[in-house]
Amino acid sequence: MSKYISKKLDNLTAYTPGEQPKQGEFIKLNTNESPYPPPPTCANALMDEVFSLNLYNDNNCTKLTEAFAESYDVSTENVIFSNGSDEMLAFCFYGFCDDTVPAVFPEISYGFYKVYSQLFNINPDKIPLADDLSINYKDYLNKNATIVIANPNAPTGLALSLTEIEEIVTSNKNNVVIIDEAYVDFGGDSAIPLTKKYDNLIVVGTFSKSRNLAGARLGYAVANKELIVDLNKIKYSFNPYNVNALTQTLGLQSILQDDYFNNCVKKIVTVRDKFTKELEDLGFNTIPSKANFIFTKHSKISGENLYLELRKAGVLVRYFDDPKINDYIRITIGKAAEMDEVLNKIKVILEV
Ligand SMILES: *Cc1c(COP(=O)(O)O)cnc(C)c1O
Repeated sequence: MSKYISKKLDNLTAYTPGEQPKQGEFIKLNTNESPYPPPPTCANALMDEVFSLNLYNDNNCTKLTEAFAESYDVSTENVIFSNGSDEMLAFCFYGFCDDTVPAVFPEISYGFYKVYSQLFNINPDKIPLADDLSINYKDYLNKNATIVIANPNAPTGLALSLTEIEEIVTSNKNNVVIIDEAYVDFGGDSAIPLTKKYDNLIVVGTFSKSRNLAGARLGYAVANKELIVDLNKIKYSFNPYNVNALTQTLGLQSILQDDYFNNCVKKIVTVRDKFTKELEDLGFNTIPSKANFIFTKHSKISGENLYLELRKAGVLVRYFDDPKINDYIRITIGKAAEMDEVLNKIKVILEV
């Protein structure tokens, strides 16, 4: 750190992204990416775009917004895109929280919520999970604060029902409720339809997980149009060109190639459920997941040791150094053959 950095950053701990090793070095199951590439139509679509890169990109993401609105049955004025959903979450924390309106979110959830709270000087109320690591939705009723919930939650993979979300939204009429749906396509119910009914609900989503585009950086929010105006005010005060032209093209292809997208999701869900059963046969205790990862533990080995042993065996998973969840590891679901290999390596490690 230099002596020039502003005092306001003294207490800031930056987000630690999962390790991004060289390609081929590991079976990489640590950051919940899709094991499948973007749809094949992307290559030609990108080539058509490359030689227009001398011009600024469309800061309204017009084509992408139109296709998205049609596909998700909302109006274009209810949609905004961002450079990954991390950026949209930053806009939300910046725009809807402050000294008088704190953020409320689960104590164990997506790590960035704590980082944004620090970055924007918001004093958050972090609510513990229940003993089974689920979110008790009743803890989020009548809070007088901005509520942020990942649904399904990370790293547990557990989801709230839409009825529970709706109760949270209606009991917090004077505040914004932000539902982060990074994993919703793998088994959760999207709250996007509820945005038509409630003017205090923002649904944030990403193309990084179910849409095979983590490296392209594309996120979005769907909400009542006044909230979208608010989010645009922040975007246009920060970086109007936040979604580059190539990423807009890739996002559009993802939406147009709906069968490809659905097929990838289906394969991942099938492999997840099979892998969960196979782990169960080895004595693992796995939280029933509605995401593209599982959170699992075994009584014979700590989370850290299993993480380290798998690493030695060439498999990268995620382990969290927090006493409440350090029995567990989080394993992203890859291709069927990769998971077979991982299962064999786990058998060797556990000597079963
Ligand atoms: C991966 C993830 C995100 C961020 O996704 P990007 O769009 O890649 O920035 C947001 N929320 C949760 C819960 C995630 O797991």
